[in-house]
Amino acid sequence: MPSMMTQSLTISSLIEHAGRYHSQTRIVSVETDGTTTRTNWGEVEQNARRLVSALEKLGCETSDRCATIAWNNRRHLEIYFGVAGGGFVCHTINPRLFPEQLIYIMNHAEDKVLFFDKTFLPAVVQLRDHLPTIQHFVLMSGYDEEAAQQFEGLLFYDDLLAAEPDDYVWPELDEMLPSSLCYTSGTTGNPKGVQYLHRTTVLHTLGANQPDGLALSAKDIMMPVVPMFHANAWGIPYITAAQGTSLVLPGPNLDGESLVKLIDGEGVTMSAGVPTIWMGLLQALEAMGSKAETLTRSMVGGSALPSSMLAEFRDKYGVELIHGWGMTETSPLGSLNQLLAKHAALSMDEQAKLREGQGRPPYGVELRLVDDEGNRLPDDGETQGNLQIRGHWIVDTYFGAETSALTEDGWFDTGDVATIDPDGYMVIRDRSKDIIKSGGEWISTVELEDIAISHPDIANAAAIAARHKKWDERPLIIAVPHEGKTPDSDAILSHFKDRIAKWQIPDEVIFVSELPIGGTGKVLKHKLRKEYGDLLWDKS
Ligand code: AMP
Repeated sequence: MPSMMTQSLTISSLIEHAGRYHSQTRIVSVETDGTTTRTNWGEVEQNARRLVSALEKLGCETSDRCATIAWNNRRHLEIYFGVAGGGFVCHTINPRLFPEQLIYIMNHAEDKVLFFDKTFLPAVVQLRDHLPTIQHFVLMSGYDEEAAQQFEGLLFYDDLLAAEPDDYVWPELDEMLPSSLCYTSGTTGNPKGVQYLHRTTVLHTLGANQPDGLALSAKDIMMPVVPMFHANAWGIPYITAAQGTSLVLPGPNLDGESLVKLIDGEGVTMSAGVPTIWMGLLQALEAMGSKAETLTRSMVGGSALPSSMLAEFRDKYGVELIHGWGMTETSPLGSLNQLLAKHAALSMDEQAKLREGQGRPPYGVELRLVDDEGNRLPDDGETQGNLQIRGHWIVDTYFGAETSALTEDGWFDTGDVATIDPDGYMVIRDRSKDIIKSGGEWISTVELEDIAISHPDIANAAAIAARHKKWDERPLIIAVPHEGKTPDSDAILSHFKDRIAKWQIPDEVIFVSELPIGGTGKVLKHKLRKEYGDLLWDKS
């Protein structure tokens, strides 16, 4: 007989905790129309319960998918908890996908309800006839005459909730039920769905927020810039509920200036987002003369952290950047970079060098390297191999797939190429499909980009493999100069000398005014390869 209590690890237990013990803790929400609303965990919890009741009346049954196309705002937060806490599945959709991809995803998921912000009304009007499974379209606002006229049968979120009692009790759920669904970026082929469970989400919530992880507390004011449609906003909605952390939800405007105003105006202590967002923030801080006084740390992930950024945030603003790595398939946090006690003796530069990597797995996940035949490779900090992961919050089988996505011995192959040192510090060297193979040797695009971006005239850069007759592939840099700067190719190429082996220096630099960026803030390298991949062919 078990001698201890057993309780289900459910998402409703997270929001119940926030509602009971942190009810007055502030949540600031920038709405779709640019206005700001102030609410708290108590109201979010109450509205989430009302939403369960409303969804039941609309005919939703256990595990039905309810989709969202929305910004980071308070209603989206309530939907996260109401949908999952009611036993339904919160399917967050990236609004920046092409219409065909949106249609594919919603039909594949067989979504029953779609919640959306007014920004996306024109898109949803266009898509509507292609979405046969969706029975209810809900605009995330109060009654809106203009929208009602464009959309027959449209429901309004605030009206739905107003009709519900506030004494609804959370249903008891099995922790193995699905809670949310997110599709991978799908830069090649169709996007694949990863369906998280209550149990995996709660374990991720606890695992990712350990002291050497995000370490959010009830004293923090957290501003997640990472969208709530990108891998559950890296788990931040759940973690902040569990900790009773105050939230600042930035809504639709993610430009540097808007973010600086929120940081300074609301006293934000921590944030999280992709490096491109932080590039915009650095420029805005400089232009506006802000010191981001309250901001102490920020999590960076989604793509590699440029080394120059770490030092700039530290030296100019006293902000510690915490580099993390993960994927939609890993809930998403798979590693976070914090130092060990023994590193206190290292110089600032040596410490910074260590922190540029993607860090170590928290308790709950494990990482390993293998070669193309699946043989285990050493964790010596030098040998590069295919990065594999296993743990409590890692995908097993994609949504709707018949077969497992795992290797025969139960690991998930990430598609990343990495090194791991004897302390477990992992460094992503490349995406396996991006890495440049020149004369049989590998060149890391991550490393080339880091060097290019450290040049004072370069705002952003991407390295790609260009086809070459002699070497198979050679590196090419596509660079965006800072405003008002007109660097020449030779100046940038000479910046690589002494920073990298001679044969790894790129063959050419192409200057562009912007890079193609995908919906989750990553550079779309396949587009660059299509456009520039043959540039060296005739010259080689
Ligand atoms: P997604 O599922 O869209 O979030 O994409 C996951 C992929 O993003 C990973 O497999 C990596 O290739 C890349 N990625 C995520 N975080 C990092 C990071 N900190 N550094 C380098 N690449 C990253």
